[in-house]
Amino acid sequence: MKTIIEPFRIKMTEPIKPSTRAQREEKLKAAHNNVFLVDAEDVTIDLLTDSGTGAMSAQQWAAMMLGDESYAGSISWKKFESTVRDITGFKYIFPTHQGRAAERILAGALLKAGNVIPNNSHFDTTRANIEFVGAIAEDLLTDDGKNPASTAPFKGNMDLGKLEAVIAKHGAENIPFGMITVTNNSGGGQPVSLANMKAVKELLNRHNIPLIIDACRFAENAYFIQQREEGQKNRTLTEIAQEMFSLADASTMSLKKDGLVNIGGWLCCHNEAWADKFRNLLILTEGFPTYGGLAGRDLEAIAVGLREALEPDYQEYRNATIRYIASRLTERGIPIVKPAGGHAVFLDAKAFLPHIPSSEFPGIALVNALYLAGGVRGVELGSVMFGKRNPETGEETPSVMELVRLAFPRRVYTQSHFDYLIEVIEEVWEKRDSLKGARITKQPPFLRHFTAHFSPI
Ligand SMILES: *Cc1c(COP(=O)(O)O)cnc(C)c1O
Repeated sequence: MKTIIEPFRIKMTEPIKPSTRAQREEKLKAAHNNVFLVDAEDVTIDLLTDSGTGAMSAQQWAAMMLGDESYAGSISWKKFESTVRDITGFKYIFPTHQGRAAERILAGALLKAGNVIPNNSHFDTTRANIEFVGAIAEDLLTDDGKNPASTAPFKGNMDLGKLEAVIAKHGAENIPFGMITVTNNSGGGQPVSLANMKAVKELLNRHNIPLIIDACRFAENAYFIQQREEGQKNRTLTEIAQEMFSLADASTMSLKKDGLVNIGGWLCCHNEAWADKFRNLLILTEGFPTYGGLAGRDLEAIAVGLREALEPDYQEYRNATIRYIASRLTERGIPIVKPAGGHAVFLDAKAFLPHIPSSEFPGIALVNALYLAGGVRGVELGSVMFGKRNPETGEETPSVMELVRLAFPRRVYTQSHFDYLIEVIEEVWEKRDSLKGARITKQPPFLRHFTAHFSPI
């Protein structure tokens, strides 16, 4: 078989500024040892997130010129609505400026203090929006999904036994909806099988609990289903996506992921009473229902991007890139979450730096070492992002896993960038024994990873 190539060529370039280790040391110190606070121009390969960082196609840029900026009922809205409806089948479709805006509206409209929301794994903004209204976010991943060494094909699956137990413990009346996140961002970008989604839907149905899909990477999840699940090989990604959405009563979405755009989100549902509540809050905080928080040109780019995300060549190339990096790292014995996820490679910081305890944030130590070694920016998904701090005692409950996510912007970097990345990781691996942990010197009450200050131990 020949090399799987990037299924596009480059028409416009952006410069990458070279830097020395001494310069990066200075920049990291000025950023209080938190790479979120480093300026983008001081980063060589930026793998902080795949969210809103992708490159748009010529077709998307062309579509933007057609943007109809009418306040109500624009042509661009119609294109957005019909594309989203074709893929998801939802009756009520609301554009939002990004995923968390949809989550904020969802939580504000349907939740009250003490409610419990099960999910395979809540993403950080989802959890924060649920907890902000006093509800409880429960993560019910299978044990396989929590084991970085397991090579199970669908490590994003929800554990049905745990779901049953949560319903028994809290009562269906306290669970306004259950969620399932595809792919599971917090747990390694791992997919959820169609079979699992169907089983979750059935279980929830028995208790009259609606199911909401957090659909950020629905196209990548559809690709994994096509490749890995029995009987799915000959179906198109669109058909698989349509079946996934057919199981849901509602959906939140960050179009900054599989919308292949730089900004956008949706909140969709079938239930009219929900739609009325969503619409009222949408108008209050996002905008008129036919544009949400978006410009007409954004709606145009999304309508094109959603189709491109479901093209087989695109998904095959994207997945091949990630497989390539994962196999090179594995050959060197560098611990990563296996199998590689759909949008990222997750380094297992616990296994990479076993001498650094969770209380000293091994993920932060690794993220900072990667930046210093080669200007690579990753993100900690460990005890800083998911750990819990008791506000009274200051006591920390660590996260189950200590991961460092290297998320790949869509259609942005080429193979030589990835070869460079592998060299940087190898350099840090060589001197891993000399790395030291970190402590937090300043933190906000919510989503602390974005703005916390650290100092090396
Ligand atoms: C990105 C993301 C969100 C939030 O979306 P934003 O557009 O960043 O607000 C929610 N859930 C998951 C799984 C995500 O990856």
